[in-house]
Amino acid sequence: MSVFDHPEFDQHESIHYVHDATTGLRAIICIHSTALGPAAGGCRHWQYASDETALTDVLRLSRGMTYKNAIAGLRFGGGKSVILAHADTPKTPELMHAFGRAVESLGGRYITAEDVGCTVDDMRNVNQETRYVSGLPKSGDNAGGDPSPMTALGVFLGIQVAVKARLGSDSLQDISIAVQGVGKVGLNLCRLLNDAGARLTVADVNSDHLRLARDELPVTEVAPTELLFSDVDVLAPCALGDIFTAQTIPIIKAKIIAGAANNQLSTEEDGARLAEREILYAPDYVINAGGIVNVAAEYFGNSSEELVRTEVGRIPVRLDTIFAEAKATKEPTNRIADRMARRIVAGGPNESMDQTPHG
Ligand code: NAD
Repeated sequence: MSVFDHPEFDQHESIHYVHDATTGLRAIICIHSTALGPAAGGCRHWQYASDETALTDVLRLSRGMTYKNAIAGLRFGGGKSVILAHADTPKTPELMHAFGRAVESLGGRYITAEDVGCTVDDMRNVNQETRYVSGLPKSGDNAGGDPSPMTALGVFLGIQVAVKARLGSDSLQDISIAVQGVGKVGLNLCRLLNDAGARLTVADVNSDHLRLARDELPVTEVAPTELLFSDVDVLAPCALGDIFTAQTIPIIKAKIIAGAANNQLSTEEDGARLAEREILYAPDYVINAGGIVNVAAEYFGNSSEELVRTEVGRIPVRLDTIFAEAKATKEPTNRIADRMARRIVAGGPNESMDQTPHG
């Protein structure tokens, strides 16, 4: 099948297949849009079932980044990259150098950072070959470093506003929340939720990550296959996407879905399925924008951690607007968010997007 006929192809500007014979690197870098600025979005290192699945993922993720960056008010377009992990090609510094050279070859049209399976150290290796990378180690009070804590903060604030909108509660005290995946974002989120008095249920397919959560926090563990169907107030997906489908939605018990994972809905219609069941869905790319706000502040070099926190504090305001419109119009929240994002992209860069690319 031609990529142009792919169901997830949505006027993407360019798709780059990368191979490095020495390290065995195989990657896809996907630039969805540069209408608002360089296409920014993380690099995922993942073992895909097939190259086709990797392409589907990167096409969807890069479009999601266009929408996320637009709604977050950043002078960034949308892009994403996936490195196709394989047992024969471990994630060595050399492999990340090769990926860095591929990013450099795009001359700044794509800016990378860490996503699932990548760390600050990986980005340091990428940075040996290109300056078009963010999520590097932090220095002093400047914004930067692992974006996950800021993503978790945005999700936490988003859960608070969703709980207010759907359950009428001003507090998370005794609110039951199931967190799927206690990795970089999930664990940070659990800490914030625990401090706010929420009751936590967690699952992870990685026993080391689960142990870290269990050792630090009072959590109830369930099997990964059961977590989505837990009898809780809030479901916070912080693992991978494609989880809300025509099959799973009818048996979800939570009243709110608000988490960090990208591409949580399998299809756009799944947003309507959730709305029909009166499950309030916080659109993923709106609630999980804290990390890219941090990445942008680091990349443009004009911000402190405090300013990033202020900016992340706007996430619940945006969600509140979407929730209010959904309540008034009975439209699914994902459709409202998509429309908002497309309108911003069509309008082009504006003065409130005040960052100037460095270098
Ligand atoms: P991570 O790899 O650190 O954590 C993901 C966790 O989910 C891992 O512990 C993994 O074992 C677990 N997991 C995978 N499949 C699972 C399953 N079926 N059931 C339960 N657990 C499962 O990744 P992360 O950086 O924490 O990101 C989590 C999600 O949030 C991803 O979808 C990512 O794209 C999205 N996101 C992350 C950031 C960020 O700043 N890191 C920003 C925006 C969006």
